Amino acid sequence: MKKLTPMMQQYMDIKNKYQDTLLLFRLGDFYELFFEDALTAARELEITLTARDCGLEERAPMCGVPHHSVDSYIDRLIAKGYKVAICDQVEDASQAVGIVKRDVVRIITPGTIMDTSLLDEKRNNYLMSLYGEGEGWGLAYVDISTGELFTTEIKGTSLSLRLKLLDEIGKVQPKEIIYYIDPEKVEDIAGLALDKKFNLVIHPQPHWCYGIDYATGQLKNQFNVMALDGLGFHGDHLGVNATGGLIDYLSTTQKRFLSHINKINVYHVSETMVMDLTTRNNLELTETIRSRSKKGSLLWVLDKTQTAMGGRMLRKWVEEPLLNSVKINQRLDAVQALLEDLLLRQDLKDYLKSIYDLERLAARISYGSANPRDLVALCNSIQHLPAIKELLGDKKGLIQALYDRIDCLEDIGELIQRAIVEEPPVTLKEGGIIKEGFHPEVDELLWASMEGKQWIATLEGEEKEKTGIKNLKVGFNKVFGYYLEVTKSNLKLVPESYQRKQTLANCERYITPELKEMESKILGAEEKVVALEHQLFLEVRDQIAKDVQRIQKTASAIAELDTIYSLAEVAAENQYIKPTVNQEGKINIKDGRHPVVEKMLDNEMFITNDTRLDHKNHQISIITGPNMAGKSTYMRQVAVIVLMAQIGSFIPASEATIGIVDRIFTRVGASDDLSQGQSTFMVEMSEMANILNSATANSLLILDEIGRGTSTFDGLSIAWSVVEYISHNVKSQTLFSTHYHELTELEGKIDGVKNYRISVKEEGENIIFLRKVVEGSADKSYGIQVARLAGLPLDVIERAKDILRQLEENDIAKVEIEANALVKEEIAPAVEVPIQVEEPPTIKEATIIKEAPPAVAP
Ligand code: ADP
Repeated sequence: MKKLTPMMQQYMDIKNKYQDTLLLFRLGDFYELFFEDALTAARELEITLTARDCGLEERAPMCGVPHHSVDSYIDRLIAKGYKVAICDQVEDASQAVGIVKRDVVRIITPGTIMDTSLLDEKRNNYLMSLYGEGEGWGLAYVDISTGELFTTEIKGTSLSLRLKLLDEIGKVQPKEIIYYIDPEKVEDIAGLALDKKFNLVIHPQPHWCYGIDYATGQLKNQFNVMALDGLGFHGDHLGVNATGGLIDYLSTTQKRFLSHINKINVYHVSETMVMDLTTRNNLELTETIRSRSKKGSLLWVLDKTQTAMGGRMLRKWVEEPLLNSVKINQRLDAVQALLEDLLLRQDLKDYLKSIYDLERLAARISYGSANPRDLVALCNSIQHLPAIKELLGDKKGLIQALYDRIDCLEDIGELIQRAIVEEPPVTLKEGGIIKEGFHPEVDELLWASMEGKQWIATLEGEEKEKTGIKNLKVGFNKVFGYYLEVTKSNLKLVPESYQRKQTLANCERYITPELKEMESKILGAEEKVVALEHQLFLEVRDQIAKDVQRIQKTASAIAELDTIYSLAEVAAENQYIKPTVNQEGKINIKDGRHPVVEKMLDNEMFITNDTRLDHKNHQISIITGPNMAGKSTYMRQVAVIVLMAQIGSFIPASEATIGIVDRIFTRVGASDDLSQGQSTFMVEMSEMANILNSATANSLLILDEIGRGTSTFDGLSIAWSVVEYISHNVKSQTLFSTHYHELTELEGKIDGVKNYRISVKEEGENIIFLRKVVEGSADKSYGIQVARLAGLPLDVIERAKDILRQLEENDIAKVEIEANALVKEEIAPAVEVPIQVEEPPTIKEATIIKEAPPAVAP
């Protein structure tokens, strides 16, 4: 049997250890992939597939990318969800006996990206670790590009546990999940299709990585503690398992100690507002439903942050509204302080704008991937810190706390300023990094090389004079070094002391012993200085890395300051007001607006509306009004305003009291879960089930046309009993829009139910949307008028009006059928099939669809 060549054997040995990765194997100036990996990479990167003799009968499929451009190829593979292992030579080729040793130096996965060019600067890139055991989950997540690490535990019975897990994943939106689940645990993660639902990659891990003793050891080592007590775990172990597994994965993939991950944030899910993924999507908090873009989302309106760190923090605030009124008020007061001081805000903006991403910078410095320009960027940012502090000096509360947290890092700034030139190169291999005066040896070497070069510069003139060769030239190339060049016509003048080195078509090149001596001085000095500068740079970087926690602390204070700045700026620009928050569950909004819709309207004015909800007389608002009247905008507006207040943001209204809610649930329109094979109605009902099972008296429910996906009687009955159930059992404050005017009967029958309608004005054939929410119920659906606005053919509109008139006057059986077979078929088919209609018809209309009258049945 044929044997693999030694090099391919080496490849195989390594590949066997990293089976789930694409292995990039360094050979000379290329990174090569072999076998299956080569087929995958050639396909995904659209690069040429070749083959290489590997010792076996068949040549090994192979493809490769040049080492200097490998990053862009890695980026593309990671973006497609692959894990990439980088295998380099790990010993000096000249020292090697036999084949040069190679090993994997780093594994890059979607959740462990350090390279900033691959990251969205205003968004964290999280890797999440899950550990499932009994009736609970341990959950930990980290952004290695910033060093932030969070961990929590989720407990509950099967269904609620699953929902809580999904809520948390939906909030964090990790790019990658690793997990271990105890085989005895009933719930398995596989059925949850997390990868599809959240667009991430997920892989199981072996048990030992998550074992409690091993995990504890990992944590002690990472956070340099003797016991876990100080880390805030409160004796719960699931979080320890999950975090331990996470740290193990980091060390396997990064192959180094990540000292910038030095703080663990243990939190409780109940400390912040809980929202499920559907609600986050429906309220378009960070992206729109339709185009998945930030533009058009709440974050888009709120984001005036000047730094990348602030951008990430604002996003986190939007994802995690607070429940604690003291904390909310601290933020609101801070926003107010900046709002009231226009000059301060303008200055602050200018300074913040000049601050680089300190969090990611600190991470790169401690990771060992920061280049000289990164240090200069750090230094430039540091220079603005004293001015920022100065601006905040006389403020109180949260801003004062931020003032205290900002460390001006003068020593670090001073070190960089002393050591690194102002405009250094990106690479470490060319010198030109260290400033004059920082290190005597660098100065000497640079001086020696400069002196040598000067000697050579004067040599040309001297030799011309000595030899009489007018066009004699001194030149340099990489192969021969320095030389004297004489054209063929002057060869007779060349003195004997010149040694011929190279003959070209029209000239000869010579060297002299003195020239060579000087050359070796210059080149020796240059080589030495490059190496020395490299070493000094690493020393400076390591020195700064020791202070990474100080940089991180300042970074987080700046991020928070920037977030508050942004909220203040937005409040000023849009005339938002400061809400009063309370814990009594009373919501009273005067002249509320939808912060996003008001920005999107071109010429129209946004019509403001009031909202009143409490646990006594205004618990459930039933909202009627034609399609397009603005029901859904109004309901979302209430949810978004409450959420904004709990973020600590000012809100679009003229006056408001906001009772803190523990959760917001929305059930709005058709969901995109259709792809998962469920009918719209099924999705609607399972979301409703989730809401009724999870909502509390302190929750806010936004229910848009519940029951519309089935026949009218079914739908109305479901809607009705849902209102009753909320009123008697769940007791959440609720906005409920409906086309079933029958539901308005509930006012007066059920305590706390109030009717509202969105007013419209009839003008002849047309209706005008007034967008004003008023007490009472709508008397008509205006479905036909809206259909007309939408451009339904006039024939259809006219006929519909005709049918409607007959229906209103007569019984269904008496509606005259137009003598047209097509019409018959259209009216008569679907006897049992639930019909999807934009505008749920009135009871009489629906009867036509559901039960074909005997008169027209074939
Ligand atoms: P409905 O849910 O009743 O069908 P929407 O809430 O979807 O209606 O509103 C339809 C459109 O009307 C929105 O896209 C928006 O452009 C506009 N609109 C809604 N509310 C207002 C308002 N208060 N002021 C101005 N325009 C509004």
